[in-house]
Amino acid sequence: MPTSNNADPRGGKQLSFENTEVAFRHTSNAALNRAWWLFKMININFLVKIGPPVTNWALNMHLPIQGVIKATIFKQFCGGETIAECDSTIKNLSQGGVGTILDYSVEGEDEEAVFDETCQEIIRTINRANGDKSIPLTVFKITGVGRFGLLEKLDAKQELTEAEQAEWKKVEQRVSMICKKASDLGIPVMIDAEESWIQNTIDELALAMMGVFNTKRAIVYNTYQLYRHDKLASLQEDHDIAAAEGFILGAKLVRGAYMEKERKRATEMGYKSPIQTTKQNTDDDYNRALEYCVANIDTLAIVAGTHNEDSCRILADLLDQYEVDHNHPHIYFSQLLGMSDNLSFNLADSKYNVAKYVPYGPVKAVLPYLFRRAQENTAIAGQMSRELSLITKEKVRRKRG
Ligand SMILES: Cc1cc2nc3c(=O)[nH]c(=O)nc-3n(C[C@H](O)[C@H](O)[C@H](O)COP(=O)(O)OP(=O)(O)OC[C@H]3O[C@@H](n4cnc5c(N)ncnc54)[C@H](O)[C@@H]3O)c2cc1C
Repeated sequence: MPTSNNADPRGGKQLSFENTEVAFRHTSNAALNRAWWLFKMININFLVKIGPPVTNWALNMHLPIQGVIKATIFKQFCGGETIAECDSTIKNLSQGGVGTILDYSVEGEDEEAVFDETCQEIIRTINRANGDKSIPLTVFKITGVGRFGLLEKLDAKQELTEAEQAEWKKVEQRVSMICKKASDLGIPVMIDAEESWIQNTIDELALAMMGVFNTKRAIVYNTYQLYRHDKLASLQEDHDIAAAEGFILGAKLVRGAYMEKERKRATEMGYKSPIQTTKQNTDDDYNRALEYCVANIDTLAIVAGTHNEDSCRILADLLDQYEVDHNHPHIYFSQLLGMSDNLSFNLADSKYNVAKYVPYGPVKAVLPYLFRRAQENTAIAGQMSRELSLITKEKVRRKRG
């Protein structure tokens, strides 16, 4: 078992996720009110349903709604349109002990010139992190630097044309350039997980990058989606490969974001869904993966990307159980900007490593991301969403003084 060198690893504090004072310490009354109104609107399922088509229609009609979006939902969930615009968010998070992960969130592009530009932008995020302790990790998506259809073909083991082979070489070069920059500057870079029908290709590329860049420290992290019934086993197999080849496995653990799409495709195409049959199975595998990683902390570095309170508490408890320092460089908790501040700031207050994804990009380009966040925060079975109830609790607390 690894040992702790921290005499008081909990910093003398009792971990509580209910403390809204700590959670919103860095949120002004005006920002809290804005968030309250926003989550109140998002709680109305009907609005969230008609939001995307109405917004897209208004944008296509060139109606001037970008300003409204930027001042409301964009302001809640994004840092800005450029890296420079994220500066105040980075500072604000850092004052609460929470790091930033700059996430260039442009989605659905398909042109080589855009892939080259995105690759350069990701490199700019790594350069921005250089020498700044408030940006401990960086991230990118393979579909930001390569065509989805090409990845799909590779995953299905279909033969590539000569032009496609050249196209794939370029994708590999972009990924390698990003990972090399991360390695040169000593800044970890995570590769997001995506749909299962392109994921094998992503996994192979990520593992190859780890083989090159993770021999001394964890630089490249792949993402494991524990809503897939095969991913706990993949994590263990990859760890075996890493041990045999002498590198550190970098693993971001998430439940997974494409459940409905995955199930729909599996049903339509008549294959067994890769998704677990129940939420409980997903939760169980997620928490088992946490334990596996903490038990192997010397050769495995993790980022727990989750808003699930139980999983955060389990990971916090595991660190104590295995006597691992709260701020061990191989363990990070991570949430998305604008969500679960009760987890992020309370964990940071208890001296755990925490960093939040700070998505940024042109308003129009990040709309799909914003629609997903709205969808996630709608009312569940007539109950207030978690975010809305926390903000309401803090508003009441502030009123009482
Ligand atoms: C920092 C960070 C990084 C992320 N990176 C990625 C990424 O690279 N790729 C990616 O796909 N997602 C990513 N996500 C999103 C993540 O996968 C989840 O969608 C989201 O965080 C919700 O899961 P949760 O762990 O917060 O907990 P919860 O809210 O407790 O769990 C919800 C999740 O459980 C699973 N689930 C729900 N119902 C069922 C069911 N009936 N059967 C089986 N499983 C079910 C689904 O995955 C669902 O999203 C990231 C999230 C964070 C916070």
